[in-house]
Amino acid sequence: ATPTALMAGVGRGAQLGILIKGPDALEASRRVDTVVLDKTGTVTTGRMTVTGCHPAPGRSRRDLLWFAGAAESGSEHAIAAAVVTAARAELPELPEISAFTALPGLGAEATVDGYAVLVGSPRLFGERGIMVPEFDDLVDETHAAGAVPVLVAVDGEAAGLLEVRDVVKPSAAAAVAALRAQGLRTVLLTGDHEVAARTVAAEIGVDDVRAEVLPADKAREIEALQATGARVAMVGDGINDGPALATADLGMVMAHGSDIALRSADLVLVRDDLRVVPDAIRLADRTLRIIR
Ligand code: ADP
Ligand code: MG
Repeated sequence: ATPTALMAGVGRGAQLGILIKGPDALEASRRVDTVVLDKTGTVTTGRMTVTGCHPAPGRSRRDLLWFAGAAESGSEHAIAAAVVTAARAELPELPEISAFTALPGLGAEATVDGYAVLVGSPRLFGERGIMVPEFDDLVDETHAAGAVPVLVAVDGEAAGLLEVRDVVKPSAAAAVAALRAQGLRTVLLTGDHEVAARTVAAEIGVDDVRAEVLPADKAREIEALQATGARVAMVGDGINDGPALATADLGMVMAHGSDIALRSADLVLVRDDLRVVPDAIRLADRTLRIIR
C-alpha cells in the first residue's frame, strides 16, 4: 500500500465525515458484503418521547408517571430519559430512589418510596411472572405501530403502560437503498420486539431483521453471520454495541456513541447521516483500487 494513496483516502474520509481509526479499516471495508445496522440510536434518532400513558384500573396518570419517572431516573437508557422527561413535565418533584438496578435489554427496577417498581418490556414482565392481561391488546397495538410498550409494576402488580416512540432518521431509507445498490446485504439488529422491528425494517427497506436480541447476544449474531461466510460491517452507537462492533470485520460507530462503542469501532461516522455508511464502503473500494 502506498502511504500517499492511504493518506488521500483518510483525507477524503475526513471530508465526508468518516474518521478512519487504523490502517486496516479501509481494507476491511472493501471486502464487506453484509451491513448490520443497530436500530435504536443508529437507524432511529434515539430521541424517544412518551406518546401514550395508560394507567391500570385504580391508578391515576400521575401515579403511573410518578413511579415510572422515579424508577427510570436511575437509568441512562434513551427510553428512561423519555419517561423521566414526561414525568417531570407533569409532576413538580420526583421522589428519591434506592436499590436501582438496570436490566440490560429489558428494563430497570428500583425502590421508590418503599415500593418495588419494575419498568420494562413485556418480555421482562413475562420472565418475572407478572401477568398483565388487561394490557395484552395495547401491547400488540403498540408493537404494530413500531413503538415500545413500557410496562410498569408496583409491588408486583401492573400499574400501567407507557407508549414510547422513536423516529426513524430521514437518511435511513436512502442509506439502505444505496447499500443495496452496491450489492450489500442489509440486516437490522435490535433488542426491540419482533413486530416493532419489522415495522421499522419495512420502512427503511432492509433485507433482514434480527429482533429481540439481548445486548450480550449481539456479538453472537455477528459471529453467526460470519459463520455463513459473510464479511460483516456493523453500525452501532450504544454501550451494548461494543462487543458486536469489535467482533464485526468492520465496526462503524456514530460519533454520538458511547465511549465503549467508540473504542471498539474501526470507523467513526462524524455526521449523523446514515448515508456516510455507503460512502465509507465506496471510499475504501476506491482508495484501495488506486493502491493496487
Ligand atoms: P436496542 O437494541 O434497540 O438499542 P435495547 O437492547 O437497549 O434496544 O433495549 C431493548 C428493549 O428493552 C427496549 O425496546 C425496551 O423494551 C427494553 N428496555 C431496555 N431498557 C429499558 C429501560 N430503562 N426502560 C424501559 N424499557 C427498557
Ligand atoms: Mg442502540
